Amino acid sequence: MNGLLFPNPRSADIMRGMDILDELRKEVAGCTRCPELVDNRTQTVFGDGTIEAEVMFVGEAPGREEDEKGIPFVGQAGRLMNSAMKEAGIPRSKVYIANTLKCRPPDNRDPMPEEMENCSAYLAAQIAIIKPKIIAPLGRFGLERMVKKGMKISEVHGRAIRRKDGMIFFPMYHPAAGLHQPKFRQAILTDFKKLAKLLKREGLL
Ligand code: URA
Repeated sequence: MNGLLFPNPRSADIMRGMDILDELRKEVAGCTRCPELVDNRTQTVFGDGTIEAEVMFVGEAPGREEDEKGIPFVGQAGRLMNSAMKEAGIPRSKVYIANTLKCRPPDNRDPMPEEMENCSAYLAAQIAIIKPKIIAPLGRFGLERMVKKGMKISEVHGRAIRRKDGMIFFPMYHPAAGLHQPKFRQAILTDFKKLAKLLKREGLL
């Protein structure tokens, strides 16, 4: 029985989490910590997906289309990611997607260390609210920020790294790498398939 008289405590947790995430989204929308990014952005790009996600992807920073739409990974790289996820059998509706930076850097330049530092508390809060079992850094910025400085994506992509507290990191190439080089496109697809296997093994898919 799960009507109004017998509310599921998990639903209450989810509703609270959604409220907190929404508050955070509003806070991020008003952030002015990085003046150059504030001047350059159309809007902040907070994140996209379900609060119940078991896996959270963390990209680098929004590009032009993301900045226009306010949603991460909706441009060319996002389309490649969608098709790899689909082929691997991971529904986008079951994941959450965020970035290390919530604002688009001018001319898509790399995020600066100070900008990543300024934005890191927002990403940490998203992780704390959503509590994914697996975090998949897409590319070197997320990897170095969340797993280990100096770690090379080419050496660790497609492998689960388990932290002592049980958190699993699954580094992957950034989908943009697959746009220009077919060998990366294949590696990206293979890694999404490995991620699907890992999710199944952990009982998460
Ligand atoms: N690249 C990223 O890292 N993030 C996006 O949201 C889009 C492209």
